[in-house]
Amino acid sequence: MTQDRGLLLVLSGPSGVGKGTVCAALRPRMKELVYSVSATTRAPRAGEIDGVNYFFKTKDEFRAMIENDELLEWAEYVGNFYGTPRQFVEDTLASGRDVILEIEVQGALQVKEKFPEGIFIFLAPPDLKELRSRITGRGTETEESIRNRMMVARAEIELMDHYNYVIVNDEVDKACDRIQAVITAEHLKKERQIAKYRDWIKEVF
Ligand code: 5GP
Repeated sequence: MTQDRGLLLVLSGPSGVGKGTVCAALRPRMKELVYSVSATTRAPRAGEIDGVNYFFKTKDEFRAMIENDELLEWAEYVGNFYGTPRQFVEDTLASGRDVILEIEVQGALQVKEKFPEGIFIFLAPPDLKELRSRITGRGTETEESIRNRMMVARAEIELMDHYNYVIVNDEVDKACDRIQAVITAEHLKKERQIAKYRDWIKEVF
């Protein structure tokens, strides 16, 4: 029954907008949310742990996951593959818990095709100038990689129209407050409530 399934939340937006930071800040605040761990072919960064931050895969392993239909969505992003393990998401939703995916925009659009009832949140930068400084501010990217990331970001912003909500990441805490507000409101939607009341009426009368 629909009302017993968890919500599928998709947090997406341009590279460098702070999706990872916002998601990390959300964790201690929303412990009941289940955070999907993606598979990727990129190398682990310092401190990243296999199975916690990502499932780190070779390109062959990743291709096998695609062929075996193990991924809900996947995308090639700046030379590496990223994808969401499908079974985990489906099982978690079926158990009634909410799942959040933190993914780039090509993947978010694929999820929308498969789960149109998902809640799609676009995390937007306060302005493009700041976005550039955030991308370069990481200090880990080459000039070419920065240029690529900027081109990707511009196209991504035009994709906002496919989302249910746009949340500006001006301050991490405020962005988290807004995401929490969205989740609360989505749980209160009449479509999620009404079937429960119908069941209750059947029992009582
Ligand atoms: P990073 O390499 O900085 O961890 O991530 C690069 C980009 O890949 C980020 O925009 C991140 O949101 C995105 N990403 C992480 N996991 C997935 C995934 O499973 N699917 C897709 N499509 N994008 C992902």
